[in-house]
Amino acid sequence: MPYLILMCGIFGVFNAEHAEKYAFYGIYALQHRGQESVGIAVSDFEEIRLVKKSGLVLEAIKKEDLEAIKGYSAIAHVRYSTAGDPGGINSQPLIRDTSLGRVGVVHNGNLVNYLPLKLELEEEGIKLYHTSDTELFLALLDLGEYVPSHIRLHPADREVLPKVFYALSRVKGAYSLLFLFKDRLVAVRDPMGFRPLLMGRLKDTVLFASESCAFDILQAELWREVKPGEVVVIDRQGIRSYFPFTSDRKAMCIFELVYFSKPESFVFGNWVYRARKRMGELLAYEDQVEADIVVPVPDSGLVPALGYAQAKGLPLELGLIRNHYVGRSFIEPTQELRDIKVLMKLNANRAVLEGKRVVVIDDSLVRGTTSKKIVAMLKRAGAKEVHMRIASPPVVGPCYFGIDTPTREELIANRMSLEDIRRFIGADSLRYLSLESLRASVESPQDYCDACFSNLYPLEVEGTALRIR
Ligand code: SF4
Repeated sequence: MPYLILMCGIFGVFNAEHAEKYAFYGIYALQHRGQESVGIAVSDFEEIRLVKKSGLVLEAIKKEDLEAIKGYSAIAHVRYSTAGDPGGINSQPLIRDTSLGRVGVVHNGNLVNYLPLKLELEEEGIKLYHTSDTELFLALLDLGEYVPSHIRLHPADREVLPKVFYALSRVKGAYSLLFLFKDRLVAVRDPMGFRPLLMGRLKDTVLFASESCAFDILQAELWREVKPGEVVVIDRQGIRSYFPFTSDRKAMCIFELVYFSKPESFVFGNWVYRARKRMGELLAYEDQVEADIVVPVPDSGLVPALGYAQAKGLPLELGLIRNHYVGRSFIEPTQELRDIKVLMKLNANRAVLEGKRVVVIDDSLVRGTTSKKIVAMLKRAGAKEVHMRIASPPVVGPCYFGIDTPTREELIANRMSLEDIRRFIGADSLRYLSLESLRASVESPQDYCDACFSNLYPLEVEGTALRIR
């Protein structure tokens, strides 16, 4: 991971003996989407029980934790918590006692009307216990009922769904959600489909996950995506699907394909691997540089580097080797010690670099500080020339839809020209993938959000002046 980006992953399971274990392994497979905290809520159809811990799934959740929450349906979450909340009160699942009984929720995304809505609820005297937008989904369940006129509810859904639809009618923004009720699970994707959510199955067990790699670990079958705007209910009577709110404009996050999702995953109707490799190929077609070898920045630069190398007919060499045993590093007081952070993660491989003209490929460039260290590392290991290639366009806009990117001012592409960035990172040349080629690497690019690359936002954000596409 070349820079700090915050995100999360969600997983759900219904109708499984030991749903808590399915949740454990499913959320473990999504660990790359958040490493600071993990939580699992389980229902045994009578009661909902919860475990939440700071840290990585395998280290944080113990056997006895799972034994204490045994049940038949579950939701789980991994997240990267913010500085003021180190694995604390906002880690998910969130649980609330409502008129529908105890309800749990996990959320991937971000509401763009959180602050005004929170203020409104507080003015109405609604008690909020957390400082995250996710809590609003639970708080709103008790504040009203709504069924759009085109919806015919199944009798089994007449108590719960009007409240869920009411909650959804009040929020704006990005949300893939899983609600856990004691007798059912409800999956929701926002009408613009910002964040992925997929369904899998394993005999009579139904699974939900941010990415399909969570089904693979359970040897389950990828069934289908939860569609933008869809609400899927599953209980012991079966599965039912509704589309209470729709939007003509879709806004699937293209950064999922550039970086977030694992390469073997299927999201937004794409195999991530294919889209990412295509980005590398298109980067190669746009590039005239003369080089001897192509070197990926592991792991996220690997797939586009493969596409680039094959398109150019150049050898792909492992000129940077990743250390897989890196944990936390300390906040160091001097620059030399701070550089150790990158050196702990990556080492240059002199055996393939010495005397070579190197094209080094990374998935994205946000602040430029990591790229600078990588270029220096390659040169120290004997590379004759280092040509930095980025398999996505310059990041020019912050994200308001669930990815905590740096501020507009911190983004290097907003502060420096291409030549100044090249000089800053110390490369012999620098090139990004064009926005047109990024869009060409996916089917139906008009159905994606690419605002952090284009500065054209799919949705208005309360209190922020943005250009809307
Ligand atoms: S702004 Fe960027 S990171 Fe955020 S949803 Fe859009 S494409 Fe994804």
